[in-house]
Amino acid sequence: MAQFRLNALTEVMNRKPVEVSREANLVSDYFGKLVFNQSKMKKYLSKEAYNAVMEAIETGTTINRKMADQIAQGMKTWALENGATHYTHWFHPLTDGTAEKHDAFIEHGDNGGVIETFSGNMLAQQEPDASSFPSGGIRQTFEARGYTAWDPTSPAFISETTLTIPTIFISYTGEALDFKTPLLRAIAAADKAATAVCQYFDKDVLSVRTNLGWEQEYFLIDEALYMARPDLVLTGRTLMGHQSSKDQQLGDHYFSSIPTRVNRFMQDVENEAHKLGIPIKNRHNEVAPNQYELAPIYEEANLANDHNQLLMDIMHKIARRHHFRILFHEKPFKGINGSGKHNNWSLQTNTGVNLCSPGKNPKSNLQFLTFVVNTLKAVYDGQDLLRASILTAGNTHRLGANEAPPSILSVFLGTEVSNMLDLMEQAVVDRKMTPDEKTALKLNIGRIPEIILDSTDRNRTSPFAFTGNRFEFRAVGSSANNASALIVLNALVAYQLQKFQKAVDALIEKNVKKDEAIFQVLKELIIQSKPIRFNGDGYSEEWVKEAKKRGLTNITSVPESLSAYLRPEFKKMFKDLEIFSEAELKGRVEVEYEKFIMKIQIESRVLADLAINHIVPVAIEYQTMLLENVRNLKEVFDAEEYKKLAGARLELIKTINEHISAIKAKREAMIEERKKSNVISDVVKRAVAYDKNVKPYLEEIREHIDKLELIVDNEKWPLPKYRELLFTR
Ligand code: ADP
Ligand code: MG
Repeated sequence: MAQFRLNALTEVMNRKPVEVSREANLVSDYFGKLVFNQSKMKKYLSKEAYNAVMEAIETGTTINRKMADQIAQGMKTWALENGATHYTHWFHPLTDGTAEKHDAFIEHGDNGGVIETFSGNMLAQQEPDASSFPSGGIRQTFEARGYTAWDPTSPAFISETTLTIPTIFISYTGEALDFKTPLLRAIAAADKAATAVCQYFDKDVLSVRTNLGWEQEYFLIDEALYMARPDLVLTGRTLMGHQSSKDQQLGDHYFSSIPTRVNRFMQDVENEAHKLGIPIKNRHNEVAPNQYELAPIYEEANLANDHNQLLMDIMHKIARRHHFRILFHEKPFKGINGSGKHNNWSLQTNTGVNLCSPGKNPKSNLQFLTFVVNTLKAVYDGQDLLRASILTAGNTHRLGANEAPPSILSVFLGTEVSNMLDLMEQAVVDRKMTPDEKTALKLNIGRIPEIILDSTDRNRTSPFAFTGNRFEFRAVGSSANNASALIVLNALVAYQLQKFQKAVDALIEKNVKKDEAIFQVLKELIIQSKPIRFNGDGYSEEWVKEAKKRGLTNITSVPESLSAYLRPEFKKMFKDLEIFSEAELKGRVEVEYEKFIMKIQIESRVLADLAINHIVPVAIEYQTMLLENVRNLKEVFDAEEYKKLAGARLELIKTINEHISAIKAKREAMIEERKKSNVISDVVKRAVAYDKNVKPYLEEIREHIDKLELIVDNEKWPLPKYRELLFTR
């Protein structure tokens, strides 16, 4: 067998599960050990400093420098006691992943020695030379300064030996260059708008927080096999590979017994996560072979997202410890399930009420329905923007591939809530209800809780599903930064809530009673957003047709989808809500176009190389073997016998030739298209050219390679096959 592949397989067969040790018996004994959390702050900070941080977390007040100095002192003491030697500002640039630059605590001290220092200034702000981070033209290299600024709402933690401080990342002129800044702004916008609406129902509501519970899917591949697949190494997905005869047809991987090696990896991840205060709760096998999932208990959205990004980074490192490589790509393998990252989203008041959960009485249920209906309308109006926030070069392979929600946005509400909305739609006739109708409606609304608790209905095919006490945005890709989706979702909901409030207030001003005004506006919204409601099978062909009839959009092209960001109504929304200025929005979208182009370009280059250096040579070698064989037959047998015997071989030789010729021709054509695309200066047009003219070749060339994989002698095939990648562990 090809040496590389054989070595890899042998290595895997000799693997032993890696031992894992835990901090202590009870997770509660070490949970948050490496986090400068409330209990640590109480211990290491003065009362004054502690209160300053708490106030900043709760009400968003700024912390003055004097106080920052005190906090830095406490943080330093704690960090040094726990083995830290360095500190870093940690942020989410617009790349995939996070960024950090470590600085040692040391400064010159007396007598040529050094001392450990850490000041309020160092805690509050840093100025990394950030010219190499994507900005989409916001920041020129000659004004390369970027600033990171401490986000006190997400606690500092120790990663290995570094005190890590979550920060935002902005340009010299104040534009956001990261995911966190707009996320915080979008969370604040939703807070403000939702709090105002809650005032109709409960005057005690002073703030509303966004909750996020993410579910992270991933693949684990043995590192020896991974290293033998240059496409996995360089692009995170297999650019070729014939489907394995058996993969997920039998559904025997989902929730099945977790292999020991994998289980050890998971334990290791959980130990680290728990020390870092990441509340991982579930783990299980997913549908595709070698695919797994983990999920924490939900948290405040900004913190939850920091935790997701941090954990992805940790998972990469721990996977290596166990001789695995982790794949977060949305579609590493053709023909089997890809990976997503469900975003479970809800809004919660400072009084502890989950606004996405039915309440205990008609009043709180009306509040619940208000939030459901406004969310519905927000998704309806923002369907294209929501899609733009999650559709990437990777995720486009997954959406709609009979495993993941389609590229059509719709909302699943379940029968109970749907019926309730129907009722509200019918009940409020002519914008005025009789007292009886009103009582009946209130009674019905009051009945929701029991019904929903009974409900087990769960629609896995919906991209945006109501699941009893939250909405689940399921179209998010596994490699994504959740912030991308959350910024858009929170913005849309905040904007819609503002409109709702305006409409209700206008009616109240005309002496319509408050409840009645709310009913009337909700009815309008229910009618307007009806097309987005869909409880059926999102995977079916009928839905595609039906959605079209309803006027819902269905876009699979990344460049086309991205253009939604720059639509006048959305530009206005982001500006009004102070989430993105026009320059920020433009820069951000440009980064996304660039990212798309780069990813396709890299895939195209890798495929072109592998095709010519790995595949074609072995195909020719095997073909030569066949030719030799035919020549020998001719020597040994008489003409008539030879004709009978050589027929099948000659066919095979011709078929191989056809594939080789096609690969070569298509490869050249693809390179030509790349060259043509590269000289287009307009980034949008270049992205469209890559999408329309380069990307299709990836699939076309692959088809020929995958056919050759079935023909060519297994002994010669140089790359680990799907059956090996997916079933060897
Ligand atoms: P599933 O059946 O979809 O896998 P899980 O029970 O695993 O559901 O939960 C998925 C995620 O949803 C978890 O992170 C969980 O904490 C989160 N979740 C539960 N309730 C809420 C809520 N009210 N708001 C946000 N997330 C929630
Ligand atoms: Mg799940």
